Amino acid sequence: MLNLILFGPPGSGKGTQASRLVEKYNLKHLSTGDLLRGEVAAQTELGIEAKKKMDAGDLVPDEVVIGMISNALDNNAASVEGFIFDGFPRTTAQAKALDELLSKKGLQIDKLLSLHVSEDEIVGRLLKRAKDQGRLDDTEEVIRNRMKVYRESTSIVADYYADQYKLADIQGEGEMDKITENLCSQIDLIASS
Ligand code: ADP
Repeated sequence: MLNLILFGPPGSGKGTQASRLVEKYNLKHLSTGDLLRGEVAAQTELGIEAKKKMDAGDLVPDEVVIGMISNALDNNAASVEGFIFDGFPRTTAQAKALDELLSKKGLQIDKLLSLHVSEDEIVGRLLKRAKDQGRLDDTEEVIRNRMKVYRESTSIVADYYADQYKLADIQGEGEMDKITENLCSQIDLIASS
């Protein structure tokens, strides 16, 4: 099994890169953002509660996203060669919970791949995405709040994995193919170690 976390600020290209890696390494893509948007679209109780937080650019409570990931792991563990987590973990509590969920299955995170993109570039990309996809959490005010949440609660998650020697830093600006190539080089290092 190969279990990866794709990490980085909102708009750093995690979704795009994840779908490329999923295909190449036969992994299951688990995006808490996508799972939450699915709940919102289906108008479940969880979705209705989560939507308020998402529209403001705040984090959904840890226990909600941890529960969703726990279910997704139970439903998929037998059928894939590993997982790629995207948008999760976003807090240290989520990172600890993920370690516990995986260890119960005899699994572990192999690497956190951290995409680095400057704040100016992020704001530009998210405003463009707002136009293209009409995501309600992509207004300038909400984007600013999401960046703040990232700086204050999420960026420290990388330190948690750095302490376990599992952090790989990747330049997230430039040619998309080059970024994919750099991600793959890091992944292939795991496979050969
Ligand atoms: P982006 O990659 O653009 O930051 P996502 O699609 O990952 O956006 O997430 C959209 C929103 O869903 C977040 O702003 C947050 O409200 C909620 N969310 C997604 N993942 C998590 C998580 N792991 N913990 C808490 N909230 C989350």
